[in-house]
Amino acid sequence: MVFKCANCQGRNSIYISELSLNFDAVNSHEGAMRSGTHYGVIEELSCGNCGEDCSVTLEIWEYPIGADNQNEISIDKSEIIEAPDYVENFWNQYHRVWDDYYEEPDLDSIRNR
Ligand SMILES: [Zn+2]
Repeated sequence: MVFKCANCQGRNSIYISELSLNFDAVNSHEGAMRSGTHYGVIEELSCGNCGEDCSVTLEIWEYPIGADNQNEISIDKSEIIEAPDYVENFWNQYHRVWDDYYEEPDLDSIRNR
């Protein structure tokens, strides 16, 4: 991502690998017909030029489950010039964790019992 520092107007380029992208579920709601989750993470960054701190908030709303319904990136002081492709990154990560959790049973070992 690229952001412009509010203090010195310098441009900063941050690789997506430099972000933690450690999303937490902010809240989830469940009902008869609808359920969904709001994920968010706050990344603390500082300007490489003047050292001014800023924080970037990345948010994803999942509704219905499994769908990327809405996403938003915001920064407190500076200005986002180029947003990172964090949404695709999030879903790749999310589905990998999910797949691990629901690991397929080893059918051969069950049959051979
Ligand atoms: Zn700066």
